[in-house]
Amino acid sequence: MARLAQTAGLTDVQQEILSTVRDFVDKEIIPVATELEHRDEYPQAIVDGLKELGLFGLMIPEEYGGLGESLLTYALCVEEIARGWMSVSGIINTHFIVAYMLKQHGTQEQKDHFLPRMAAGDIRGAFSMSEPALGSDVSAITSKAVKDGDEYVLNGQKMWLTNGGTSSLVAVLVRSDEGHPEGTAPHKSMTTFLVEKEPGFGEVRPGLTVPGKIDKMGYKGVDTTELIMDGLRIPADRVLGGVTGRGFYQMMDGVEVGRVNVAARGCGVAQRAFELGVRYAQQRHTFGKAIAQHQAIQFKLAEMATKVEAAHAMMVNAARKKDSGERNDLEAGMAKYLASEYCKEVVEDAFRIHGGYGFSKEYEIERLYREAPMLLIGEGTAEIQKMIIGRRLLEEYRFQG
Ligand SMILES: Cc1cc2nc3c(=O)[nH]c(=O)nc-3n(C[C@H](O)[C@H](O)[C@H](O)COP(=O)(O)OP(=O)(O)OC[C@H]3O[C@@H](n4cnc5c(N)ncnc54)[C@H](O)[C@@H]3O)c2cc1C
Repeated sequence: MARLAQTAGLTDVQQEILSTVRDFVDKEIIPVATELEHRDEYPQAIVDGLKELGLFGLMIPEEYGGLGESLLTYALCVEEIARGWMSVSGIINTHFIVAYMLKQHGTQEQKDHFLPRMAAGDIRGAFSMSEPALGSDVSAITSKAVKDGDEYVLNGQKMWLTNGGTSSLVAVLVRSDEGHPEGTAPHKSMTTFLVEKEPGFGEVRPGLTVPGKIDKMGYKGVDTTELIMDGLRIPADRVLGGVTGRGFYQMMDGVEVGRVNVAARGCGVAQRAFELGVRYAQQRHTFGKAIAQHQAIQFKLAEMATKVEAAHAMMVNAARKKDSGERNDLEAGMAKYLASEYCKEVVEDAFRIHGGYGFSKEYEIERLYREAPMLLIGEGTAEIQKMIIGRRLLEEYRFQG
């Protein structure tokens, strides 16, 4: 085996796409990532380059101007990009989830209206479930839509929108009582609205405010925001799929592919941490030899590489399962859980290998150390993944006593 995280059975087209993306990452992302991240600067030139490569339309069907590629191709590209800088994969991720939800659940008019411009990267997507008082417990959403003629009036506050400022289309999940009598289960009275807006901050549409960027410990460069809806009027034809009450399922479907994507990000960050660790271990000398020659450090490298391989294999398995048309919530939950935990551990080991220099902002590992924790939280925490995995296991292994 020459390098870690190789994927068997890829087509020529997949290999070509991946090698183009890897080349772009090595030349255009890695050399500037840490500097931009320290300045919390949006990587506009990188985003323009990704647009040119067609990355925003990678999974959008060809009939809408996309490349019509599989989830596996997409996840492998994300892995490469996160290896360069995790924030850049975050810029693509919410866009990809919204495009996927439109493709799966949108009306024909909605697909025709949004997908071609999303494929070109001219409309960019964000999605919004979380609120200040909830993240894991989506059924507790309090933001509300009330029907008024041919429109809905939306009120409420949303939290943690990745790309909340830079996007021009937000898929927003709110409670909608219309048509759902008192006592309807919470997840059956939720609706996803397709909210178009101007990119930027402040009042971006009458009744809709994006206050500003949340100051984060890592995952900088990409904007994360709140969203305030105060009498926001949305036409009825911007209900995703045209029917209210399906929002919870639509969002969960989106988040499920998003989980493969987060797993892929964990794989990419862990790979980069391994590369940095194995390089430094051969440069730094203590007690008369390279630290890589001390067995304790070699063991660390061995553990790191094993984790990189295992996470990659599980991520690829989850993506392939979805591509084959099968339910993959178990595999996606496992891959997301394992890849994010392993990523944190591999990054920590690479940090330790760097000794004191790992604590210096001059070294890339310092950035990775602040980025890895986000993967433990986004698209469902470790506890939520374990709940999903546990429930599915009990379904599969039901005791027939
Ligand atoms: C940088 C960043 C970007 C994000 N981007 C988006 C986005 O684009 N769109 C969006 O909608 N959201 C986004 N989120 C929100 C993210 O999805 C939530 O933060 C996450 O789901 C956790 O929710 P919470 O923060 O409310 O934690 P809580 O749900 O309050 O959980 C707190 C702790 O309790 C645990 N816990 C909760 N319930 C249980 C239970 N039943 N059993 C055991 N333990 C439990 C959790 O695992 C966690 O450890 C983002 C978050 C961050 C940090």
